[in-house]
Amino acid sequence: MNTIAERLDALITRIRTAAAAAGRSAGEIRLVAASKTFPPAAIREAVAAGVSDIGENYIQEAHDKYAALQEVPVTWHFIGHLQTNKAKYAVRMFDLIHTVDSYRLAMELDRCAQKINKVQAVLIQVNVAGEESKSGVAPEDALPLIRRAAALEHIAVRGLMTLPPYFNAPQKVRPFFAELRRLRDCIDAEQIGNVGMQELSMGMTGDFEAAVAEGATLVRIGTAIFGERS
Ligand SMILES: *Cc1c(COP(=O)(O)O)cnc(C)c1O
Repeated sequence: MNTIAERLDALITRIRTAAAAAGRSAGEIRLVAASKTFPPAAIREAVAAGVSDIGENYIQEAHDKYAALQEVPVTWHFIGHLQTNKAKYAVRMFDLIHTVDSYRLAMELDRCAQKINKVQAVLIQVNVAGEESKSGVAPEDALPLIRRAAALEHIAVRGLMTLPPYFNAPQKVRPFFAELRRLRDCIDAEQIGNVGMQELSMGMTGDFEAAVAEGATLVRIGTAIFGERS
């Protein structure tokens, strides 16, 4: 049985290798430890081993862990589907919300962030493969959504996120990562005020090497750190 620290070491080596193979500096890639279903003790262990960013999927679960980990210095990421009626909890806990996929949600986050004098950093989730079962805006709707969100003063768009089809074959997913990167570059070229396009959140345990090769700046990895979820 490997410990979290051992698994994390092995993972970091793989991220460095993937970065080097792509001619990138490993420092450009932030590891977000996707900790859904794992208890605060596992997160503490990961942080002690060097994790600085935690990703959670469910507001209630995140709320409990956030309370239990008050003194632990980590950056909190929301990576699950966010319902508009949970926006007020999300803005209190999360440094970066990866999953904005409608103007309605952006408006609600803006309203809630304003109430607590915060500018909420967000990513726009894009459904690159057009899968019915997945959240995210269609690629062609990303730019119009970002143009509208740019006018919201308590939201700061920082890039794009995607969850590609699961093929368990990184080389098959890679074109979807390439597509997200192209979309990011197109939107970046528009130079929209109040919008930054530096972040590309893509890549999980099964496919992060392909994501790093295509320019991921945030990889969201659970299983390779914490083990299988039951
Ligand atoms: C669970 C999850 C991950 C991590 O998945 P692993 O395969 O365990 O690395 C990444 N992104 C999202 C949105 C997730 O829900």
